Formats: sequence, C-alpha cells, structure tokens
Amino acid sequence: MGYLEGFAVTFKKLGEKRVTTEYPEEKRPKPDRLHGRHVLNRYEDGMEKCIGCELCAGVCPANCIYVRGKDNPDGDPVSPGERYGFIYEINYLRCIHCDMCVEACPTEAITESKLFEFSFTNRADAIYTKKELLVDDDGLPQHLPWEDWRPGEDQMTSAWMRATAPSGDASYEGKVAWSGELGYGVRDAEVGQSDDHVVARSPEETDH
Ligand code: SF4
Ligand code: SF4
Repeated sequence: MGYLEGFAVTFKKLGEKRVTTEYPEEKRPKPDRLHGRHVLNRYEDGMEKCIGCELCAGVCPANCIYVRGKDNPDGDPVSPGERYGFIYEINYLRCIHCDMCVEACPTEAITESKLFEFSFTNRADAIYTKKELLVDDDGLPQHLPWEDWRPGEDQMTSAWMRATAPSGDASYEGKVAWSGELGYGVRDAEVGQSDDHVVARSPEETDH
C-alpha cells in the first residue's frame, strides 16, 4: 500500500503552487545587496572615483585585486584627487565576494553589482580589467559578452556600500553621507537609513 501513499503525495503536490523556475530562461528577482561582480564608479561629472590608493588591494583576503596609481595628467585629470587608478584588475577565479574592498574604499569607487552569472572559457576573461569594470557613460555596468543578465539586473550597484556607510549607523539616520554617482545623482537612502524611508515600527522601537 506504500505506493498508493506515494501517488497521493504526487497528486497533492500537482495542485500546489510551483516554487521552481525554468532557469536560466526565467530568473527570480535578486536581493538588492547581493554580492556580484564589481563596478568602478564615476562622479556625476564623469570623473573616476578611484584615486589609486590601493587600500582595496591591501585589505582583500583573497589577494585578487591588482591596482596601480598614477599622478593625474596636468590639465586633464581623470579623478578629482592627485592620483587615479591607472591599472585596476580583479581576478574572479579568486574573489570570494566578501565586500571588504568596498568597505575599505575611501571614495566609494569600488562597489559590487548584483551580476554574477558568468561563463568564462579562458582565464583572461575571468580577470576583469579597469576597462571592463568602469561604468559606462550612463553610470551603468558594461554588459560583457560572457555575462548573462537581463534588463533591471544592473541596478543597485552600490547598495552594499551604502548599507555599510556611516549612514548605516542609527545615529546618522536621516543624513545621506555618500557622494553622487554618474547616472543616478545622490542615491536615496534605504529603509532604516533615512527618516524619509522609515516603515511601520513597533512602539518599543520608536521609544528610543
Ligand atoms: S569582494 Fe573580497 S575577495 Fe573580492 S575583491 Fe573585494 S576584498 Fe577581494
Ligand atoms: S578602488 Fe578605492 S580603495 Fe581601491 S584604489 Fe581605488 S580609491 Fe583606493
């Protein structure tokens, strides 16, 4: 009789809501703070945020960032600082997406996007160069040939940076403490980071 119970389970499940998706044709929405591949951001005027300080490379536990700074050219600066990131590479065969580089960066130059679906056929493609990491003229990640992503998945490229910025501290609530980005201006605070975005709270939470 055991097989009848098996059939009963099968028929019961046929009527339930399907939880699987036909990936990769169909994708589930990704969390805003998913740790995907990085982008190098620019200011609203197009200048690069990276100043070539190498702090990200120094803090990286996987030793997968290679960055070299260089003095900005006279009369044609690349970044607002004295120096800019002349060479910038991240090896995605090593990166563990811990975001320590993002937290260490003093200028919010390096942040992580939600993009992680890559299909490399050689090691060179797995090492992203500055040319590939730098956002385009609209401030969006470049869509590289070996990456599978759809419209909308390139949003929230600096969510984690803002989550770990001083504004993530409750005493900074209501104050935006991050700089503007090309294509976005000054990004909105997220829930819990600004009085404008406070959702319904319990009386205990609002007492202090
Ligand atoms: S996310 Fe972590 S492992 Fe990846 S480059 Fe940044 S510091 Fe290194
Ligand atoms: S990404 Fe940030 S931490 Fe890394 S070299 Fe550029 S400015 Fe410095």
